[in-house]
Amino acid sequence: MSLPFQEIHGAVHLHTTFSDGGVDIADLIKVSTQVGLDYIVVTDHMTLAAKEKGYEGFHGDTLVVVGYEHNDHRRWNHYLAIGTTTVYPGQQDPQDYINGIKKAGGIGFLAHPEERRHYFAHFPPYPWTAWDVTGYDGIEVWNQMSEWVESLKRWRSYILLLYPRRFLKRARPALLERWDNLNRTRFVGGIGGVDAHTFRFGVGPLALRIFPTKVELKGVRTHLYVPNEWRSASADVARRVVVEALRDGRGFISHFRRGDASGTEIVLYDAEGILILPGKADRIPALPARFKINVPLPSEARLLRNGRIVDNAEGRSISFVVKEKGVYRIEIYRGRNAWIYSNPFPVGTYPF
Ligand SMILES: [Zn+2]
Ligand SMILES: [Zn+2]
Repeated sequence: MSLPFQEIHGAVHLHTTFSDGGVDIADLIKVSTQVGLDYIVVTDHMTLAAKEKGYEGFHGDTLVVVGYEHNDHRRWNHYLAIGTTTVYPGQQDPQDYINGIKKAGGIGFLAHPEERRHYFAHFPPYPWTAWDVTGYDGIEVWNQMSEWVESLKRWRSYILLLYPRRFLKRARPALLERWDNLNRTRFVGGIGGVDAHTFRFGVGPLALRIFPTKVELKGVRTHLYVPNEWRSASADVARRVVVEALRDGRGFISHFRRGDASGTEIVLYDAEGILILPGKADRIPALPARFKINVPLPSEARLLRNGRIVDNAEGRSISFVVKEKGVYRIEIYRGRNAWIYSNPFPVGTYPF
């Protein structure tokens, strides 16, 4: 059966030499096309330089979207602003820049909200602290960089330096719990972030380049379901399609190290046979409804309802029947490691 949408995958939350990243924009784009990403979202700190210099748009088959990362005056409360054409001037109050970015037509995600770092004094944590804010579109539920730095305290660092992605086992449970709780009152989308900095340890000829760009881009990815014709439209329309799909949580997050999740299907069919994609609800599904999951590799799928696991099954083609209202999402594991997190499927009306 042919579906009216296709699944595309990209890397979100990338830094370049326009702020504190270690790679220049042209090299980042080159590697992104080489590894076959459909889109990337560049988010340098407090600058849209990549956009101003004309890098937004298609480069080969890769769409480059330029947003930026906002922070408060203490350099906390990092916020990924996407789809806006200006850098909001205020740096004081997170609610102020959330509102300002939205007013300017942008969307936004709380970046690495549960970040904790203990190991290196020169990589301090930049957590989200202003949890009373409203109006943001989603949160970064899996951040490649902060998970890696956090794991340094637990593992022999030389192994980590050689195999940085091996240690991304799962998203942080406390953050997933927070995400589930937020989704019981309104839709809050999730994205996976790379937070690529490609920075170096040490100085001089022995300096190790951590996370070379190609490795960074073969890690946490954000997959989106978009209309089939998205690429044939103008770059501006394609960019809008990607920004809206991110805003609405129209997809899932994967970790490439556990397997290429391209082609994964995680959808819901309601009692009337209507197809429902993950993300913000366009309609309330009629019950009973059935999840249909197809993954390219054998794995274990878990069904969560209001943050609790209510069913699980193994295989490549899995279905779960749901009879109760609630906000559902799917987690897919390979062995003990998380591979895929779907965005939530609200089934019913808020609050749950
Ligand atoms: Zn940040
Ligand atoms: Zn960042």
